Amino acid sequence: MCPIMKSRLRPGEETAEITAPREDATVQFIGRIATPWATRDTCPRQGRQDGPVCRITVFEPWVRALEGIDGYGQLEILYWLDQSRRDLVRQNPKGDGQRYFGTFALRSPQRPNPIGTAMVALERVEGDTLVVRGLDCLDGTPLIDIKPSRCEFSPKAPDKPGAQDGPT
Ligand code: SAM
Repeated sequence: MCPIMKSRLRPGEETAEITAPREDATVQFIGRIATPWATRDTCPRQGRQDGPVCRITVFEPWVRALEGIDGYGQLEILYWLDQSRRDLVRQNPKGDGQRYFGTFALRSPQRPNPIGTAMVALERVEGDTLVVRGLDCLDGTPLIDIKPSRCEFSPKAPDKPGAQDGPT
């Protein structure tokens, strides 16, 4: 068993043999997320923007990459759900042996590439740290990306000739 697969299978759940090399499409962690939740049982299934304050701290050399971020009220955060198992193809979310769903029909943290996403409200920037509300991850979860909300973002690059860009 892969060493990072930490949770147990429930009866009837199914796994796939993972054959992809671990070094394939390596993701670099660019920061860490501090939240009030130490265990999955206490962690919300989806974050709420009236939820508690969480702190996203960005590592060097990426702190300069925060330039301009204070111009946005909403950010899309991508994080690596590092405590997840990665071999589940069929899941029983309630653990009751009744209803099963394919992994891609769920927003479960257990997935082949355990990327979590959340739209958060940006309260303020404190140097290398974003103070936000709206997360749903464990304390210490690795950060993989930060993007301005699609609704607020307008392209900074020139138009692409011939491209029909959709609304920004
Ligand atoms: N909002 C994200 C999404 O939709 O992509 C994540 C949703 S997922 C259902 C949130 C749950 O993942 C939490 O309730 C917790 O049980 C679990 N979780 C949170 N942080 C985790 C981590 N670092 N590793 C594994 N599981 C985690």
